[in-house]
Amino acid sequence: MIPDLIAKWEPILEVSVPRWNIKRMKTKWGSCNRETGHIWFNVELAKKHPGCLEYIVVHEMTHYLERNHGERFTKLMERFMPNWRSLRDQLNEAPLAEEEWA
Ligand SMILES: [Zn+2]
Repeated sequence: MIPDLIAKWEPILEVSVPRWNIKRMKTKWGSCNRETGHIWFNVELAKKHPGCLEYIVVHEMTHYLERNHGERFTKLMERFMPNWRSLRDQLNEAPLAEEEWA
């Protein structure tokens, strides 16, 4: 699932994901290390709607293009995934926070 999503979005965002893993996280759905490009996905995402998983994949990959969650980040998300807000809201119904840059 995640490898397919990464392969789908790499050419769209014109980035490549050098390394990713799944782990248990208490407060984040995903995180991305700016220096190494290493992305972590929360194991709990497996229980969520596939669209929510795709949102986190795109969100973390968009951090390759923009580090912060500012206006530029929002514009990129609007372009790549116009329905990202509803996917985010679905995730936020759960107790975990969205994510944080590592
Ligand atoms: Zn983020």
